[in-house]
Amino acid sequence: MLCRSNDELQLLVNQAKDLCPDGKVADYIPALAEADQAKLSVALFYPDGRLYSAGDTKENFTLQSISKVLALALALIDHGEEHVFQWVGKEPTGDPFNSIAKLETTTSKPLNPMINAGALAVTHMIKGSSVSHRFERLLEFVRCLSSNKDIDYNEEIAKSEYETAHLNRALAFFMKQHGAIDEKIEGLIDLYTKQCAIEMNCMDLARIGCVFAMDGRDPETDEQLVPLDVARICKTFMVTCGMYNASGEFAINVGIPAKSGVSGGIMGAIPKKCGIGICGPSLDERGNSIAGMKLLEMMSKQYSFSMF
Ligand code: GLN
Repeated sequence: MLCRSNDELQLLVNQAKDLCPDGKVADYIPALAEADQAKLSVALFYPDGRLYSAGDTKENFTLQSISKVLALALALIDHGEEHVFQWVGKEPTGDPFNSIAKLETTTSKPLNPMINAGALAVTHMIKGSSVSHRFERLLEFVRCLSSNKDIDYNEEIAKSEYETAHLNRALAFFMKQHGAIDEKIEGLIDLYTKQCAIEMNCMDLARIGCVFAMDGRDPETDEQLVPLDVARICKTFMVTCGMYNASGEFAINVGIPAKSGVSGGIMGAIPKKCGIGICGPSLDERGNSIAGMKLLEMMSKQYSFSMF
């Protein structure tokens, strides 16, 4: 069944909010600690251009780990599958997203592009003549997928993460020592923290989700924005590793390709059906939006979202 109105979605937002236990906003990035826990927004973008939204829809949030999917798509476009997967693996970890533990046992090749180590290896591969050129290319790509040329990054949040990203620096230095990264770590961390701070609202995010849902095609112009195989690979990682070490449980309870970020954002891409953008900043202990996950469970039941 398809969603038929904003009111229908608003009802689900209200119910999801009521059912949610308290969580915690991500505060290891100081600027994210200021987010309002009570906010919740959702948008559904259908391939025929219909857009439904509810909650605090005008609220902007940063992509954080959701950007890992977009950076991966660009790196795959830049280098092709064979090259990219020489440097990053394809297997879920079961560990927290920022864990350093497995790097040592996998001879420094990160297990997948959705954990921080893997994302740093992927961002390292984005082509460009300088850090700022590489970031401009990524930003242009995101603007194109969202069809919103005003999308930019949040300088304050990028700076706040840059100043405190010691664990990400450690991951990058470890990989550099083992030859997996060969650029200056400060430049890479600058690029990565800006990538994570790209900012948008749930409607922009739902549109990007819809591009992936439609095998890389623009839902309005039908232009192939992302090659079919790249879109397929991204969606597969979203299923196997998109919700960090809660991906298995999420596959059972919701059953769609999705990627979350510590800002509370979640992007969904339901193959051939629609794109979803959600933000609810209150997080569970694995770093997923509590209200966002609840809302997705409810929507999955109501609209028969599960692929399985
Ligand atoms: N910028 C965050 C980090 O690297 C992204 C992590 C996340 O959203 N899970 O720690």
